[in-house]
Amino acid sequence: MKLYEYMGHELIERIKDRDIKIQEILESCYERIDEVESQLHSFVNLNKEESSKKAKKYGENLKKGKKIGSLFGLPLANKDLISIKDFPTTCCSKILQNYRPPFNASVIERLLEIENAIHVGNTNMDEFAMGGSTENSCYGPTFNPWDLTRVPGGSSGGSAAAVASGQAIFALGSDTGGSIRCPAAFCGVVGLKPTYGRVSRYGLVAFANSLDQIGPITKCVYDSALILEVISGKDPLDSTSVEIKVDKYTNEIKKPIEKKVLGIPKEFFGEGIEKEVKNSIYKSIEKLESLGATTVEVSIPHLEYTIATYYLLCMCEASSNLARYDGLRYGKVSEDLFSDVYSAFSRTRGANFGPEVRRRIYLGTYALSAGYYDMFYIKALKARSLIRNDFVEAFKKCDSLVCPTMPSTAFKVGTLIDDPLEMYTQDILTCSINLAGIPALSIPCGFDTNNLPIGFQIIGDYFDEKGILNIGYQLEQELGIFRKKPSLKPGGR
Ligand code: GLN
Repeated sequence: MKLYEYMGHELIERIKDRDIKIQEILESCYERIDEVESQLHSFVNLNKEESSKKAKKYGENLKKGKKIGSLFGLPLANKDLISIKDFPTTCCSKILQNYRPPFNASVIERLLEIENAIHVGNTNMDEFAMGGSTENSCYGPTFNPWDLTRVPGGSSGGSAAAVASGQAIFALGSDTGGSIRCPAAFCGVVGLKPTYGRVSRYGLVAFANSLDQIGPITKCVYDSALILEVISGKDPLDSTSVEIKVDKYTNEIKKPIEKKVLGIPKEFFGEGIEKEVKNSIYKSIEKLESLGATTVEVSIPHLEYTIATYYLLCMCEASSNLARYDGLRYGKVSEDLFSDVYSAFSRTRGANFGPEVRRRIYLGTYALSAGYYDMFYIKALKARSLIRNDFVEAFKKCDSLVCPTMPSTAFKVGTLIDDPLEMYTQDILTCSINLAGIPALSIPCGFDTNNLPIGFQIIGDYFDEKGILNIGYQLEQELGIFRKKPSLKPGGR
């Protein structure tokens, strides 16, 4: 077995036992990148030179008996919208081509500087995290490691493809309406969207501030728990991060689940969910019952309004957030000469934002304009409260909810890109969770007849990451499929 094939926590144990060297893990990931990157296109920028130096340094420190962080040089793939000091962070947009942040995001500070993970490179994504297939990137799409003719999901598609194929041991993603869980489901890896406020957003380039959260994408639930322990907790630099105790998730996950009550939200199994997906989810629920959990049917009656509510709110917030990219303060400065600041502003933005980002800025600006604000924005905020209350009611009857992550398995590249509304409906099972601000985990639970992974979603009450990780871990152990890998052959496309 190659080193890149191991789980993160197994590599940590082997380093502690002096069985392998930190440099060897990093080299193994870069060798894997050399083998498969031309087929996948998971990365947009690699950090090979710098990270090799770091690996060497950490290796020497370890040899000398110096203290080293708890992640012992684990290779991290970072989504291209989480700031790393002096490293290109472009949000996969032409407008940020030359941007290098002057500071680290707080999650990066904790993972790299304090716990000594190592940055492999930045991963491909939909421009400004707007999309569900990683086809809206200015660098072109990423391809699914299980079937190179299909999308990896999005918007954190590069991160999920990198972890699924062994190009990195773990990754970071961001989830505004499903962007961690969707690619995790499509690529057969574990994706966690924490409670809003659990993880600092300082240094995350904002798409829709009231919905965005950073979370880990890993090969197994144990690694997800391990990374969450590092990145969770109050951060003075993000006033929306919350002062609530961070659990020892890696211990909590091992507890038995026999007293758990699992809610089955009936609307999440409605029309439009593929039969093979539903069957796989039902089978997994039976497994959880065999471990002693009981189930109860619950209802999220306002689920039918989630797509409209989510897209209205995220577009409104995005239109305001993206106003800063004007080619003067941030953004690519156009070389044309302009007569006035307004034409400079609009020409720079027109030329450097992609079509999906422009669509969202137009619609968001329209919905926020005088005369329409009450009709759209305020109404969507009211619908958001109704959806949140549905979850609050559901959690009075159960500990966690279980359902599919996505209505289907990975679709073919090019099939939905010209049909934005159809693309938006793919988020029906994920985006209500962001509207409510609660946590959710996606783990692989099986494969369809095309050998494509199916994602099982576990939704938790506020700050109950330990509960959903616990259920996810027990199911993962019972299913025993988390070591199954895509059969990617080295070589070009
Ligand atoms: N697919 C959703 C969208 O396009 C979710 C994106 C995200 O979570 N960043 O908005």
